[in-house]
Amino acid sequence: MKKVILMCTCSFACPSMKDLSFPELAERLRMELPHEYMVLHPRLCEANGENLMEDIVKEGVYYITPACKEEKQQKLLRDGFQRANVPMEKGKNWKPISVSFKNTDQAFNEIKQALEEVE
Ligand code: SF4
Repeated sequence: MKKVILMCTCSFACPSMKDLSFPELAERLRMELPHEYMVLHPRLCEANGENLMEDIVKEGVYYITPACKEEKQQKLLRDGFQRANVPMEKGKNWKPISVSFKNTDQAFNEIKQALEEVE
């Protein structure tokens, strides 16, 4: 299954993500971990982000979404999947990663583990 990282940066302004360097994280992911491609968007839960998801989310792809807390992602990313006509099924085609209150190393390690778990 193709693995895609769809990262939401929360406008690079969320206080809970202040210890995380998105540029460093993105570059380390790109260089060190096998995956199909990565997209960073500043606000996946708003119309502009949902427009993107409608365009790119597909069946047969596993989406790893580093973003806010899992419970929030469940609600906030649902419309993007819906608009793409792809069911959002945790463990089947979707793995939310909370990067709230994580530093760059912690976020990297969680994404690494998630990528390794995808068959
Ligand atoms: S999906 Fe979560 S991380 Fe992204 S902008 Fe919305 S609240 Fe922030």
